[in-house]
Amino acid sequence: MRTPSAGPGRPEPLSLRFANTRYAERGHARDAIGTPELLRDWLTRHAAELGRPGRAGVAAFAELRDAVRALIAVAAHEPGASADPDHCALLNRLSAGAASWPTLVRAGGRFRAVERSTADHGTPALAALARDAILLLGGDLADDLRACHAPGCVQFFLKDHPRREWCSPACGNRARAARHYQRHHSAPSSELRTS
Ligand SMILES: [Zn+2]
Repeated sequence: MRTPSAGPGRPEPLSLRFANTRYAERGHARDAIGTPELLRDWLTRHAAELGRPGRAGVAAFAELRDAVRALIAVAAHEPGASADPDHCALLNRLSAGAASWPTLVRAGGRFRAVERSTADHGTPALAALARDAILLLGGDLADDLRACHAPGCVQFFLKDHPRREWCSPACGNRARAARHYQRHHSAPSSELRTS
């Protein structure tokens, strides 16, 4: 199982990919970090330099992810979204929570930067994700944050192209098919039926 891939253009920021660990697959809600195994796999694939989740656990990552999602929805001007001070406070607390530093590690025939911290092993990863989200939400890219409105989709994306409307080409195809279906099924006197 994997989260839908990003659209064209620049690679999406880590915290946006983190927000999109909540996604939908054929109408079913999915969570790409919903178990310790999934969380470990996700961190390995998307943020190997952050190290392992350690004792922080799935609940702590899910809490941060859902706070980031709520704040992105505010930045994207989603209807009904309002800024919750608790969400900001959580990001700020986690961002400040760990003094960490990168260490150089030789692995698999190449060098890798791996974060180390005096604190719990989960904290550097949470701190780095919170930090990335803060820089995304507080930076210039925040103006380009959008929610994907394709049927059933719950993902966010960066509008990196003036005509980009969807998180992925697959969502664009589904949205166009849905529009087409609506057009042809809400007009009983269309040419197709009278010919
Ligand atoms: Zn989508």
